[in-house]
Amino acid sequence: MKTRNSSSLNRVLGHLDNLDTTNLTILVQRLAKERELLEKVFNSIKDGILVLDHTGIIQYANQSSLELVGLSEQDIGETVLTDKWPDLNRWIDIQALDDPLETSTAVTREIEMTYPQQRFVRLFLMPLKLSTSSTRMSFLIVLTDITEQKETTLETIESEKIASIIMLAAGVAHEIGNPLNSLTIHLQLIERKLEQLEKSTATERIEKSIKVCEEEIKRLDGIITHFLGAIRDNPPDFQDVDLINVIEEVVGLQEESLQKNKIDLNVEIDQPTPLILADVNQVKQVIYNVLKNAVEAMPSGGIIKIKPQSDDEFVSILIADTGAGIDHEDLSKIFQPYFTTKKSGTGLGMMVVNRIMRAHGAKIGIDSKKGKGTVVTLQFPQKHRRVRLLQE
Ligand code: ADP
Ligand code: MG
Repeated sequence: MKTRNSSSLNRVLGHLDNLDTTNLTILVQRLAKERELLEKVFNSIKDGILVLDHTGIIQYANQSSLELVGLSEQDIGETVLTDKWPDLNRWIDIQALDDPLETSTAVTREIEMTYPQQRFVRLFLMPLKLSTSSTRMSFLIVLTDITEQKETTLETIESEKIASIIMLAAGVAHEIGNPLNSLTIHLQLIERKLEQLEKSTATERIEKSIKVCEEEIKRLDGIITHFLGAIRDNPPDFQDVDLINVIEEVVGLQEESLQKNKIDLNVEIDQPTPLILADVNQVKQVIYNVLKNAVEAMPSGGIIKIKPQSDDEFVSILIADTGAGIDHEDLSKIFQPYFTTKKSGTGLGMMVVNRIMRAHGAKIGIDSKKGKGTVVTLQFPQKHRRVRLLQE
């Protein structure tokens, strides 16, 4: 890096033998100033920058790298980087790079960090000769935080995957509709023919069988209609919505199954909540699906708490149950289509919830403890957000 003073500095450095004390002081001051400037520049860079010597001891670390890796100032000049970041060994053998013949090997890796925070980082490592006289290599490491970038890519892949599965299933469901129609018509024809025959135990048995077939076809038809309805991706019809009204309406629909399952429901409404902009039917569907899961998680009774809350920006609904809870490893799967742990589950409920929430710019949070229960938080942006003034 070249600074304004560097050429004159170089000239002075070339005549070190002739320097008197005054000039030496000026030189040191100038060097200190230059160092301060560079430090400021490096500490304001978002990327983490580290320099290691050939043994892996940290020689320099800017502020961002300290934060990313979880180091302190005391580590500089003292600590071997891989002692503080043992996982790094899994990705790169730094010592193996200390080969004078391999001076040009630069390495780049995408690394998942778990400490001090869960992050994705792109690491770029390059051997560096700090002075012409040294025979050993130092290493420059640049760490770029790519967590957000990674998350959006993953979300895109995930939603595309889901979309293609749904398209396929919707196609199949649609195709099943036609043969079902034809089966119904033929069953009706058989019924009519049967009416013309003389009644006997045999005709009675056939009649019964036909009724069973008709019922089953009706059931299949119901499943398909329900399925196609659930996956239809309608854009929301935004209107002013008072979430408390929606909660009351949905709770009304569930009353019977709550009683049947011996579930106590506490709806805790302390005060009115601000309006949100939403598609009222879609929000109803969201709350219904979440509440239904809560009920189904407590086959031998329990307590459900529903609590709306609001702050300056959001209106949230908390739906907590004291049911079975969700396995740690299942938590990431519950939004996937067809993921279900229930005998007669469709595995579509939470996928629909997730899709509707996204279309509303709303967020969903799930906290669950196996055997204790689950808390689902639905957070909607308010219609009129109160802008918080920045403190002077
Ligand atoms: P389904 O209810 O048809 O199984 P969902 O998409 O609604 O499909 O839910 C997927 C899975 O997520 C459920 O099978 C269940 O394992 C889990 N789950 C969702 N909500 C809860 C809850 N409140 N308590 C326990 N498990 C839940
Ligand atoms: Mg469900």
